[in-house]
Amino acid sequence: MKTFVVLMGAPGAGKGTQAKRLQVSLGLPQVATGDLFRANLKNETALGKLARTYMDKGELVPDEVTVAMVQDRLSQSDCEGGAILDGFPRTTAQAEALDELLEEFSAKIAVVPFIDVNQDVLVERLAKRAEIEGRADDNEETIRVRMEVYRSETAPLLNYYKEKGLLVKVNGEQSIDEVTADLTNVVQKVM
Ligand code: ADP
Repeated sequence: MKTFVVLMGAPGAGKGTQAKRLQVSLGLPQVATGDLFRANLKNETALGKLARTYMDKGELVPDEVTVAMVQDRLSQSDCEGGAILDGFPRTTAQAEALDELLEEFSAKIAVVPFIDVNQDVLVERLAKRAEIEGRADDNEETIRVRMEVYRSETAPLLNYYKEKGLLVKVNGEQSIDEVTADLTNVVQKVM
């Protein structure tokens, strides 16, 4: 059985933190497109240089580029049993590409947990993270753009997965441990 999990949530909802923890509690690798792009940036690859022009503005990297990178990652042997996708898909085109990709692997999405956090809490968290981590794209303007991109491009995916009966909402305003416990439960039910 392959278990592919798509973790959804707005910027600041805690996807990255939770995906790292789920990796341990579920024994599935985390595939985070943001991390993959940042690794390419650091290694100054052609992909990294291209991605930077979008990331610095808070915009999405073009779908073809992102999908190709994910395809390459999911083809690696550690993803044979499944993976936790974090930050992908972010557009309807990416979601459709993912469905096709998984079909090639004779797999499908097992569940789509949505980490639900109120807008005002999100803004507060991102501002705090900007202070602590100093991530290049955590400034006021890019945060605003990322929120807007999420609202217009990514939030519609909640409906896409709801209609497929895959979406399960988890309260993201609980403690980090409680959110991990809820998410672990949601995924274990379908494993
Ligand atoms: P966040 O914490 O805002 O969710 P990520 O670390 O997931 O941010 O992503 C950072 C940036 O990387 C995004 O703003 C975007 O430019 C790029 N990126 C990440 N995932 C994708 C994707 N699936 N499609 C297009 N661009 C992406």
